[in-house]
Amino acid sequence: MAVEIPFRREFAFEYGRLERVAPGIRRIVARNPSPFTFRGTGTYVVGDGDVSVIDPGPDLDEHVAALLAGLSGEQVTHILITHTHSDHSPAAAALKAATGAPTYGFGPHAGGKRGDPAVEEGGDWDFVPDVTVHDGDAIAGSSWRFEAVHTPGHTSNHLCFALPDQGILFSGDHVMGWSTSVIAPPDGDMSAYMASLDKLLDRSDAVYWPTHGPAITEPQAHVHAFVAHRREREAGILECLAAGSERIDAIVNKLYVGLQPGLRRAAGRSVHAHLVDLAGRGVVESEGPAAIEASYRPVRS
Ligand SMILES: [Zn+2]
Repeated sequence: MAVEIPFRREFAFEYGRLERVAPGIRRIVARNPSPFTFRGTGTYVVGDGDVSVIDPGPDLDEHVAALLAGLSGEQVTHILITHTHSDHSPAAAALKAATGAPTYGFGPHAGGKRGDPAVEEGGDWDFVPDVTVHDGDAIAGSSWRFEAVHTPGHTSNHLCFALPDQGILFSGDHVMGWSTSVIAPPDGDMSAYMASLDKLLDRSDAVYWPTHGPAITEPQAHVHAFVAHRREREAGILECLAAGSERIDAIVNKLYVGLQPGLRRAAGRSVHAHLVDLAGRGVVESEGPAAIEASYRPVRS
């Protein structure tokens, strides 16, 4: 029986308006909807007066202008970046120029190791944080205190930001309510992603606010479903390999029935991420490197 993920897609908002979504938390959604961003990037503002901004968003002048207009009379003191994809970090430059606030993040995209540009087109290669944040670091402002939670997988530099006193976790693209996360090698890493899901299961955050879509109010059930979903996908891939499908294209055809054509490439990258993980665990082997175009087969024990 297929794993049911309790997706959440009801999402009330107005583009270009900084709106209060919870005590001490406001959000403004950028007009960059897509099959990967849902309705667009949700930029969060935490605090009142002296505020921090999480994920300023894509390089869209109107988005930064609307955010600054919504913060008129207030002071941005911290700019936090969950990860360096082009829908999250590029607007940090304009926001920093306008406010002087320093940026906080785990580090540059892909650890600064430039890979194949065709594979890494979504990366923001220009972003370098002013303050490098490590797992467990505290980032304190006038009325809030974040704890950084390193959650590699979607990207190697992905951070969630917790407000431990409020039971809140800003979960970035690591855990979203509307969709699963894209795990695309080489920077996306399925083994790391699964470990980062387990890491959240060991925590007791009560509500997640992802960068895309609505809050997740039952986060443990949601994360458990994502873990089960990936295990089910892995089992499906192993069945395809056992039945003689050696190529990622053939596996996608078998496993993703009714897939929108625009999501085919993402599905292939997800299967690739599983195969890289399985190869690393010695469960499958590839002819040559575990590349997207390689052929794969089970390791006979
Ligand atoms: Zn992302």
